Amino acid sequence: MEDNCLLGYTPDKLQQLVCELGQKPFRAKQLQEWIWKHRATDFEQMTNLPPALREQLVAHYTLRPLQVVEVSASSTGGTRKFLSRMRDGHLVESVIIPAAVGQGGAHSDRITLCVSSQVGCAFGCKFCASGLLGLTRNLTTAEIIGQILAAEEISGTRVDNLVFMGMGEPLANMDNLLPALTIIMDEHSLNIGARHITISTSGNVPGLKRLAAFGRPLRLAVSLHGACDEVRNQIMPVNKKWPLGELIPALQEWTRTSKHKITLEYILIQDVNAMLPEVDKLARIAHLLNAKVNLIPYNTVEGLPWVRPTEAACRFFCKTLIAKGVPVTMRYEKGHDINAACGQLRLRREEQNAQQKH
Ligand code: SAH
Ligand code: SF4
Repeated sequence: MEDNCLLGYTPDKLQQLVCELGQKPFRAKQLQEWIWKHRATDFEQMTNLPPALREQLVAHYTLRPLQVVEVSASSTGGTRKFLSRMRDGHLVESVIIPAAVGQGGAHSDRITLCVSSQVGCAFGCKFCASGLLGLTRNLTTAEIIGQILAAEEISGTRVDNLVFMGMGEPLANMDNLLPALTIIMDEHSLNIGARHITISTSGNVPGLKRLAAFGRPLRLAVSLHGACDEVRNQIMPVNKKWPLGELIPALQEWTRTSKHKITLEYILIQDVNAMLPEVDKLARIAHLLNAKVNLIPYNTVEGLPWVRPTEAACRFFCKTLIAKGVPVTMRYEKGHDINAACGQLRLRREEQNAQQKH
């Protein structure tokens, strides 16, 4: 996928581009201001750049990699999900979560954005809508960033927290993720601090090592969903490639240099991983990693056989885990009515498209 959208250019790459176009280095700074400070959507707005440079930019580069085609609001909680169409027609989704919903506090203008990193996902977790359709392609750096700008335009506020928990496995798209993170954290670009960014992975061990070597104090969430290989093998094919015996040491390595506790994500699915013997195993892993656990009652996906346990069963699992000394949060999906679990909005769209074609 050719990437000529300047939203995906790190400060160094912008500098290089300006030089290649035969311009003085200070033009890069001006370009950067137009892109990030003024949020220019058109090169013609960049009135302090020489006309010849503007012409070259118009001819070969773009400023927006995607277009928002649908915004759906949850009737409760204020989350909003939007669907973006990229230049080649593929769709990705992102979710805007107001801080008051995300953190249970008083009303504020702060928002958390959940972004996608790929179109679909190759990892094929058995419970996940994103995995159902397989991987179409990686998102470019600009397409990752484009979701943040779109969210700020929709909400009228700045994104304060970013979570890579939309469609796709971010650590399977490192070549585009790392420059995106550089731009997101750069003080003259999006200026979102590393501690406000959470990367979620289903357990991609080589990706984890590369992210650790990147050396920034990012937060890490791990989609564990099973506390033994038997359960993980049943629902997450990735575990056959990198079983717990490899994943846990890689996470221990991560904790040695990280300032933040890892979050272990654990979807509760009836008769799969929500039985009481699993609590002990989960507590053991959490203690080993000094991690916190986020329990998520399964969000039903049409066409998949998995069932959300009763609320009482979820609460009991949670209480038992807390009693073992593990820091636990349990989040009932606020956006349940807009299919807030990853991949579901796009899946619905793809189904509608398929029906229209028949
Ligand atoms: N690929 C990464 C990032 C996606 S995060 C990862 O798996 O961590 C999306 C999160 O939503 C993951 O924790 C995933 O396991 C979870 N999820 C997927 N389908 C879900 C569903 N039906 N109900 C609740 N959570 C789900
Ligand atoms: Fe991919 Fe994550 Fe969904 Fe698994 S849970 S299929 S890794 S997006």
